[in-house]
Amino acid sequence: MAQNQNNKSDLMGTIVSLAKRRGFVFQSSEIYGGLNSCWDYGPLGVELKRNVKDAWWRAMVTNRRDIVGIDASILMHPRVWEASGHLSGFSDPLVDCKKCKERFRADHLENLDRCPKCGGELTEVRRFNLMFKTFMGPVEDSSATVYMRPETAQGILVNFLNVQQAARLKPPFGIAQIGKSFRNEITPGNFTYRTREFEQMEMEFFTPPDQDSKWYEYWREARLQWYKDYGIKPEHLRLRDHEKDELAHYAKACVDVEYLFPFGWSELEGIANRTDYDLKQHSQFSGKDLAFFDDETKSHYFPYVIEPAAGADRATLAFLVDAYDTEGEGKDERVVLRFHPALAPVKVAVLPLVKRDGMPEIGEKIYRDLLDHSIKSFYDHASSIGRRYARQDEAGTPFCLTVDSQTLEDQTVTLRERDSREQYRVASGQIVEVVGKKLREAMKFR
Ligand code: ATP
Repeated sequence: MAQNQNNKSDLMGTIVSLAKRRGFVFQSSEIYGGLNSCWDYGPLGVELKRNVKDAWWRAMVTNRRDIVGIDASILMHPRVWEASGHLSGFSDPLVDCKKCKERFRADHLENLDRCPKCGGELTEVRRFNLMFKTFMGPVEDSSATVYMRPETAQGILVNFLNVQQAARLKPPFGIAQIGKSFRNEITPGNFTYRTREFEQMEMEFFTPPDQDSKWYEYWREARLQWYKDYGIKPEHLRLRDHEKDELAHYAKACVDVEYLFPFGWSELEGIANRTDYDLKQHSQFSGKDLAFFDDETKSHYFPYVIEPAAGADRATLAFLVDAYDTEGEGKDERVVLRFHPALAPVKVAVLPLVKRDGMPEIGEKIYRDLLDHSIKSFYDHASSIGRRYARQDEAGTPFCLTVDSQTLEDQTVTLRERDSREQYRVASGQIVEVVGKKLREAMKFR
């Protein structure tokens, strides 16, 4: 039975409890009662999220000649945040209810007269800066204040010249980065969708000013396609262009890739044409000229920046929600996570039918062989084969391999595919080759 987006709130609850039960995501510091909006990825979750980040890195860096990566530090010179506008402008409007003490983002409320929960009176709107502050060194005074970066982009922008010169690049080219960011969100929630500590996958694409529109168009389509390539149903994805009054003052255009979460259409990624604002600001604030010198035309110019900015946690959540499906009815209903093979936390489960007659030994050998070829696998010889298949479906494992009595006669094993339920026999010595080929084929569109 295909899972549709009916019973939407139920679906989110189901996914949160599945995530905990199967070790995708746990609440942070759970034994102490948890810490609001902080989450820990468990054994399956960490594989899934790493695969999402690897897929992004492959598409944005590994498979391209015009983009390189960096890994900048989280703490940066405080002047960076003055230049970027985050110190003065990175704030959300906040109101509190005087009666029930609930806190809201004013821009999320339809009217500011009364508390939507209890009808109590609301406070005046105050601006609340989202940056976490901390102190560098042992003295906690204002001269020692540093900020936890609220985005990874600035680490790229301030390194523009370093990277351009070291890697001898000429616009159009891009610099990509994956890393943690921190925002003291007023209203975190919806599981891992909005948290105060999260990972971003951002790329700044520097173009000659007269090519900005071409590259903006290119990246909006390329980024939408990436989510489809990795299995998100096209009808659950859309592009939403920002209205003029939504745009940051320096941005020429911006579009969000949105996903139809059980709680509604929500942003997965933003793609913005940031013009030459950032490089000009950093030139002015640092006193270092960040204009690019074009050797051919002997001219200086500030490249325009097209920025696809995605969240690794939001993307991971979208892949998890979209993969969720059920089969059967009533007490026979079972969960299948239909992950794209490249994203699946475990690729192959090796399952000897019984714990005797040499089947575990054959299974162990195949398992070892798969691991030696870096194919993340799992070995399980406990409980009935039906239960073991069901557990693997629920973990999203695309291939199960069973060692059975026929294996003892002809050295073949049963390979079972998660989505088609197709089962066929493969020579046990060829498993690595057959599965490896299937995995490579599933990824060949990149
Ligand atoms: P939102 O409007 O949802 O607050 P944003 O427009 O401020 O997001 P950007 O500054 O464009 O977000 O950040 C780029 C991406 O980083 C977002 O599309 C999202 O995937 C991710 N991201 C931003 N804030 C958070 C958060 N609090 N928790 C998880 N991911 C986030």
